[in-house]
Amino acid sequence: MSTITTTTKDLIIIGGGPAGIAGSVYAARKELSTTLITEEIGGQSVVSEGIENWIGTVKISGADLATALRKHLDACKRDVVEVYENERVTALEHEGTIFKVTTGSNKTHYSRAVLIATGASRRKLDIPGAAQFENKGVTYCASCDGPLFSGQDVAVVGGGNAGFETAAQLLAYAKSVTLIHRHKDFKADPVTVAQLLKHPNMRVITHAETIEVRGEKFVTGLIVKDKDTGDITELPVAGIFVEAGVIPNTDFVKDLLAKDATQHLQVDPRTQRASVEGVWASGDCTDELYHQNNIAVGDGVKATEDLYHWIATHTKKS
Ligand SMILES: Cc1cc2nc3c(=O)[nH]c(=O)nc-3n(C[C@H](O)[C@H](O)[C@H](O)COP(=O)(O)OP(=O)(O)OC[C@H]3O[C@@H](n4cnc5c(N)ncnc54)[C@H](O)[C@@H]3O)c2cc1C
Repeated sequence: MSTITTTTKDLIIIGGGPAGIAGSVYAARKELSTTLITEEIGGQSVVSEGIENWIGTVKISGADLATALRKHLDACKRDVVEVYENERVTALEHEGTIFKVTTGSNKTHYSRAVLIATGASRRKLDIPGAAQFENKGVTYCASCDGPLFSGQDVAVVGGGNAGFETAAQLLAYAKSVTLIHRHKDFKADPVTVAQLLKHPNMRVITHAETIEVRGEKFVTGLIVKDKDTGDITELPVAGIFVEAGVIPNTDFVKDLLAKDATQHLQVDPRTQRASVEGVWASGDCTDELYHQNNIAVGDGVKATEDLYHWIATHTKKS
């Protein structure tokens, strides 16, 4: 069993998106000795061309938001928050009264408390041809790959906000955009849907299932099944932009913490406490009902306020 030593930090934060950076800024200001371990700083919306609901800023690109988060961290961290970037956490274990975190480069870090802020990653399109044609027409990033499909017909899979945002970006380059949605009603905001449906090059197919990606060297078509009639059609498209939801990055937790059916970490929404004492979780990796930048930041703050009091009353250096 491990014991608390001088190298044991008060806190390890895993993830450098809005939730993890909020936690890091608050931890620095509270003088909690902290290790931040993250694959990158900025989070999921770094690929977004324009975020229009980051409160206090009318419009900001995802890249500029990531830069602002990094600047805030750099301004606060001093020697209180140690940052390990380009590092993936592969395991979290509970050893006695402390936590052990292992990374992909086989380093180990120890702390009294842990804040998990690992967000979520894109759900892959799981149909024949999708993996084979990934980066050969099947793509997960409109702002990165959209210009490659200038003047061509493309499809977007997914009718949530991300799907419509992707379609909006693609309409600037593509000849036509066909959005395919599994359900009859869209999950996206009605204002966004109404705006895009007015565009002459925009088409939508609702209550339909994608069946197969076809191609030779590159994608040439997407097979779609009408869920009402069973009719199968091939959309002649060169690009397929997948916006089929996300999967929380919680695999490294294994069975240590309680998760819901979709692998989100279960937390107490008043405090962000996870199911094991000493662990908090914030942002898109949690079973929080709504996943947004502002919410992730608020969750990160809430967790750090709560864990600060917990650390003060529950643990002592030996
Ligand atoms: C294209 C797009 C556009 C969006 N637009 C908006 C918008 O306009 N407004 C809005 O409010 N929200 C938007 N969102 C949602 C928003 O980005 C998320 O709600 C927010 O990023 C969640 O923050 P987070 O810190 O919880 O997680 P994330 O942003 O996902 O950050 C997770 C962090 O953890 C790191 N990480 C993951 N796993 C590990 C691991 N095992 N080890 C170490 N590090 C790890 C990642 O590298 C990343 O730094 C958008 C999302 C996307 C994809």
